[in-house]
Amino acid sequence: MSQGNCSRPGDGHRGSEKYAYDFAMPVGTPFVAMRAGDVVHVQISHHDGQIAPKGLDNYIVVRHDDGTHSLYAHLTYAGADCQEGDRVSDGQLIGRSGNTGNTNDFAHLHVAVHICDPVSKGSDDCPTWPLIFKNTAPHPHGLERDRVYTALAD
Ligand SMILES: [Zn+2]
Repeated sequence: MSQGNCSRPGDGHRGSEKYAYDFAMPVGTPFVAMRAGDVVHVQISHHDGQIAPKGLDNYIVVRHDDGTHSLYAHLTYAGADCQEGDRVSDGQLIGRSGNTGNTNDFAHLHVAVHICDPVSKGSDDCPTWPLIFKNTAPHPHGLERDRVYTALAD
């Protein structure tokens, strides 16, 4: 865990983004869907090392049946194993992490659940929502920065 919820001034997880998580991982690391849903956005055209505060970000957005949307960001170039319109299941491999967009040139996977679609409506109107991971050590106050969590089998 390289950045948790409600990060310090200057880091990105504040305001409407305050419940996001960053997981440090090398470019190209496969990741799976946290929950089942429909893939509504896939952006994978940017190349690793294309770094900017806005834009140049690769991402996948999955819409869940309760209307919330999961965002997986900073993916590697061509780093999607799903397409817009796909139905994906909990635990299905959907993409590969990278170093694109607003990463401070630090490869990681940004993960957040938004109350609606953050790409089409914007994060200010669709802020992040607290999330917990049921398959790792209890974390009643959220995952903590600089800790390592082991993902257990469901
Ligand atoms: Zn982040």
